[in-house]
Amino acid sequence: TTEDQWRPFNGSRVYMADLESTLHYSLRLELAAHPVIKGEALITLQRYISVLAKYFPGRPVVRNLLKSVDTWLKGQNDTELSYSSLRDALDNTAEVPNAALPEGVRWVGCQGSKPHFRRYPCGMWTLFHVLTVQAEEAAGKDPQEVLQAMRSYVHSFFGCQACATHFENMAKDSMSHVGTLSTAMLWLWSRHNHVNNRLAGALSEDPHFPKIQWPSPELCPSCHGVKKSGEHTWNQEELLTFLRSHFSSEHLLSDYLE
Ligand code: FAD
Repeated sequence: TTEDQWRPFNGSRVYMADLESTLHYSLRLELAAHPVIKGEALITLQRYISVLAKYFPGRPVVRNLLKSVDTWLKGQNDTELSYSSLRDALDNTAEVPNAALPEGVRWVGCQGSKPHFRRYPCGMWTLFHVLTVQAEEAAGKDPQEVLQAMRSYVHSFFGCQACATHFENMAKDSMSHVGTLSTAMLWLWSRHNHVNNRLAGALSEDPHFPKIQWPSPELCPSCHGVKKSGEHTWNQEELLTFLRSHFSSEHLLSDYLE
């Protein structure tokens, strides 16, 4: 299949193909812009890989790869790391059995109507939500673990500088107040809607995928509360139930995987 072939998809579901594509883009393309990784960026990379190794709800072969990279990275005692050595670990040149990260991208739910729309940033948000939900599903201990790992990844490596600045400002404002795993899910959901609101109607918006306050009433009727004095309200308990199901590992679709 070529990149310009449209893949029909269900807009109310989450696809593993988008999550794997996001990993490929992040680990093999975005990080490759940093030939040497040291200091704060190295700590950021270790935390990011550690969170992926713990919570990425992938196929066994992909989980094995993430765990082997995590173990390898934790055993590195040098103060700096070359991207090429990380790349070898990602490509599994040591030939750890049943461990691989598929090459290339295959966007499905994150396809855009033009090549410059959606794709990786859409995949990053999706991955980010999935990880907050997985942390709860896996009974993680630290409610800030996923949020802080993603915050520093965005700060150190996310290619869109303006996005990183905006996101860091939101994180500084309120991320430290998050005290439970379910609040972490809600924090990310509400910050994402904040970004949607800011970007609605902007040039970066794919006209075929307008920015809305998500989830729509069609996707989750019970998430929307009665209007109080004309103001829209959300039912937080219903929202949590919806997020837990929408981003759960059992609900991920495996269409279009290699
Ligand atoms: P996205 O916003 O990427 O969302 C992907 C999918 O997630 C949606 O299709 C939907 O299924 C689901 N979703 C939507 N809203 C929510 C929600 N509230 N909670 C849970 N799931 C939801 N672009 C800019 O131009 N300026 C910025 O400052 C900027 N900051 C960004 C910061 C971060 C951390 C990231 C990851 C991206 C940022 N972007 C920014 C990109 C922008 O937010 C979109 O990702 C991009 O425009 C593609 O939009 P999309 O239509 O694919 O939907």
